[in-house]
Amino acid sequence: MSEQFAVNRALFDEVMVPNYAPANVIPVRGLGSRVWDQNDREYIDFAGGIAVNCLGHCHPALVNALTTQANKLWHLSNVMTNEPALRLAKKLVDSTFAEKVYFANSGAEANEGALKLARRYALDVYGEHKQDIISFGKSFHGRTFFTVTVGGQAAYSDGFGPKPGAIHHAEYNNLESLKALISANTCAVIMEPIQGEGGIIPATAEFIQGVRELCDEHQALLIFDEVQTGVGRTGQLYAYMQYGVVPDILTSAKSLGGGFPIGAMLTTTAIAAHLKVGTHGSTYGGNPLGCAVAEAALDTINTPEVLTGVTHKEQLFRQELAKINAKYDVFSAVRGQGMLLGAALSEKFKGRSRDFLLASADLGLFVLMAGTDVVRFAPSLVIPDADILEGMARFEQAVAKVVNG
Ligand SMILES: *Cc1c(COP(=O)(O)O)cnc(C)c1O
Repeated sequence: MSEQFAVNRALFDEVMVPNYAPANVIPVRGLGSRVWDQNDREYIDFAGGIAVNCLGHCHPALVNALTTQANKLWHLSNVMTNEPALRLAKKLVDSTFAEKVYFANSGAEANEGALKLARRYALDVYGEHKQDIISFGKSFHGRTFFTVTVGGQAAYSDGFGPKPGAIHHAEYNNLESLKALISANTCAVIMEPIQGEGGIIPATAEFIQGVRELCDEHQALLIFDEVQTGVGRTGQLYAYMQYGVVPDILTSAKSLGGGFPIGAMLTTTAIAAHLKVGTHGSTYGGNPLGCAVAEAALDTINTPEVLTGVTHKEQLFRQELAKINAKYDVFSAVRGQGMLLGAALSEKFKGRSRDFLLASADLGLFVLMAGTDVVRFAPSLVIPDADILEGMARFEQAVAKVVNG
């Protein structure tokens, strides 16, 4: 290395804003579901960059899409359109309910677009009174000030001065609490089909269907935030597809780019029409590099083999977690679907998800938390079965370490 300074974890504290508390290890390369750190120590990756690396690290289809596009054209701005964006939009439209697509750079930006569109639509069609947005407790929709205020954890939006208004929170999986809040003034209800950051909590089918009915009754748009559940994560291309419920707006990010930053908002022609020329935009949104990678990710994932594989791998995860739990009795439930699973800690271990994460990292395994009571797994959708078994062997050692103190 030519640097005249040490590139290590201490440098983070020296030069980075302290809003994160990263691990001590610094990974430098990855391949498939394995990652190596600066000391060439190898890890198995059950974290997937928080449900982002849907095809693992350096998947040949994504590397090829990125490098091919990198040698052609990186950026134009939205003064012009580009071929990768058009191809990706067409494929998203062809494979979902949507008729129109807006591209952003992240999940928060996709949600920001969705919420602004819902406000705009209600204002145009019904008038100024219809501006209420309802979301749910424990939900997570991103960190812009609008999206974080819509999210269901006030702690994340407190401390920044006056918040965007007309935002209300109902209780997730409780239709009565939504019924009590929804009215003719509601412009949109936003929900995650499975709450990710909130602790891997799936909505029941009755709840999702009931939310749709209440939205229809009150002429409110239904927004599904599929930033974490989308692009094959649950074994469906999008989680909504299994419920017989279609949203008015859907947002996608995380797995959409497989590690390249991109977000998308999907909707119908009638609703999209309200984001007229000049009403919303982004310099990088829909850039050729991101769209080329996302197109390759979508082509690879949206096949019966990969989607069925996700369901098979879920069974293997559940089977191995059950074996570990039979031995150590640490989980009260395993929730979630496909490659988005949460092991909820039993009463005795509540509040200690970080201990499981740290013990796992010590033993060569990356896992995630979803709050302090849930150990979360969001690996590659194509993680080899052998890596699942090896990772679970390491996880068992980590569990033993936590249990035995
Ligand atoms: C991660 C996440 C977001 C925010 O996405 P960013 O790309 O971090 O802005 C929004 N909604 C859900 C459900 C998420 O899981």
